[in-house]
Amino acid sequence: MGRRKSKRKPPPKRKAIMPLDQQFNCPFCNHERSCEVKMDKSRNSALISCRVCSERFQTTINFLSEPVDVYNAWIDAAEDIN
Ligand SMILES: [Zn+2]
Repeated sequence: MGRRKSKRKPPPKRKAIMPLDQQFNCPFCNHERSCEVKMDKSRNSALISCRVCSERFQTTINFLSEPVDVYNAWIDAAEDIN
Protein backbone atom coordinates (compact mmCIF):
# COMPACT_ATOMS: atom_id res chain seq x y z
CA MET A 1 0.00 0.00 0.00
CA GLY A 2 1.72 3.11 -1.15
CA ARG A 3 -0.02 5.80 0.62
CA ARG A 4 1.13 9.12 -0.42
CA LYS A 5 1.32 11.79 2.12
CA SER A 6 -0.34 14.78 0.70
CA LYS A 7 0.94 17.97 2.03
CA ARG A 8 -2.04 20.12 2.24
CA LYS A 9 -1.43 23.64 3.26
CA PRO A 10 -4.41 25.44 4.64
CA PRO A 11 -5.02 28.66 2.81
CA PRO A 12 -4.03 31.75 4.77
CA LYS A 13 -7.19 32.94 6.40
CA ARG A 14 -6.17 36.20 7.90
CA LYS A 15 -5.01 39.04 5.82
CA ALA A 16 -2.22 40.88 7.50
CA ILE A 17 -3.03 44.47 8.10
CA MET A 18 -0.61 46.61 6.24
CA PRO A 19 1.35 49.12 8.28
CA LEU A 20 -0.01 51.79 6.01
CA ASP A 21 -3.53 50.92 7.00
CA GLN A 22 -3.49 53.00 10.13
CA GLN A 23 -5.55 55.90 8.97
CA PHE A 24 -9.23 55.94 9.63
CA ASN A 25 -12.22 58.11 9.02
CA CYS A 26 -12.96 60.54 11.79
CA PRO A 27 -16.25 59.96 13.63
CA PHE A 28 -16.36 63.60 14.70
CA CYS A 29 -15.57 65.67 11.62
CA ASN A 30 -16.18 62.87 9.08
CA HIS A 31 -12.98 63.47 7.22
CA GLU A 32 -11.64 60.43 5.48
CA ARG A 33 -8.38 58.92 6.65
CA SER A 34 -7.65 61.83 8.90
CA CYS A 35 -7.14 59.80 12.05
CA GLU A 36 -3.83 58.27 12.83
CA VAL A 37 -3.13 55.57 15.39
CA LYS A 38 0.04 55.43 17.37
CA MET A 39 0.62 52.16 19.12
CA ASP A 40 2.92 52.05 22.11
CA LYS A 41 3.05 48.37 22.89
CA SER A 42 5.76 48.71 25.50
CA ARG A 43 3.40 50.87 27.53
CA ASN A 44 0.23 49.02 26.55
CA SER A 45 -1.33 52.21 25.34
CA ALA A 46 -2.44 53.59 22.04
CA LEU A 47 -3.38 57.05 20.93
CA ILE A 48 -5.57 57.92 18.02
CA SER A 49 -5.95 61.48 16.91
CA CYS A 50 -7.53 63.37 14.08
CA ARG A 51 -5.34 65.86 12.32
CA VAL A 52 -8.32 67.81 11.06
CA CYS A 53 -10.39 68.43 14.19
CA SER A 54 -7.72 67.49 16.77
CA GLU A 55 -10.07 65.07 18.46
CA ARG A 56 -8.07 62.43 20.27
CA PHE A 57 -8.55 59.27 22.25
CA GLN A 58 -6.25 57.15 24.32
CA THR A 59 -6.86 53.57 25.26
CA THR A 60 -5.08 50.56 26.65
CA ILE A 61 -3.99 47.81 24.30
CA ASN A 62 -2.36 44.43 24.53
CA PHE A 63 0.14 42.70 22.30
CA LEU A 64 -2.68 41.40 20.11
CA SER A 65 -4.22 44.77 19.49
CA GLU A 66 -4.35 46.20 16.01
CA PRO A 67 -4.83 49.82 15.04
CA VAL A 68 -8.36 48.99 13.96
CA ASP A 69 -9.13 47.84 17.52
CA VAL A 70 -8.08 51.23 18.80
CA TYR A 71 -10.29 52.85 16.22
CA ASN A 72 -13.26 50.68 17.19
CA ALA A 73 -12.76 51.54 20.85
CA TRP A 74 -12.83 55.20 19.89
CA ILE A 75 -16.06 54.76 17.97
CA ASP A 76 -17.59 53.04 20.98
CA ALA A 77 -16.46 55.82 23.29
CA ALA A 78 -17.75 58.44 20.89
CA GLU A 79 -21.15 56.76 20.87
CA ASP A 80 -21.22 56.78 24.65
CA ILE A 81 -20.71 60.52 24.66
CA ASN A 82 -23.53 61.18 22.21
ZN1 LIG B 1 -11.81 64.81 12.94
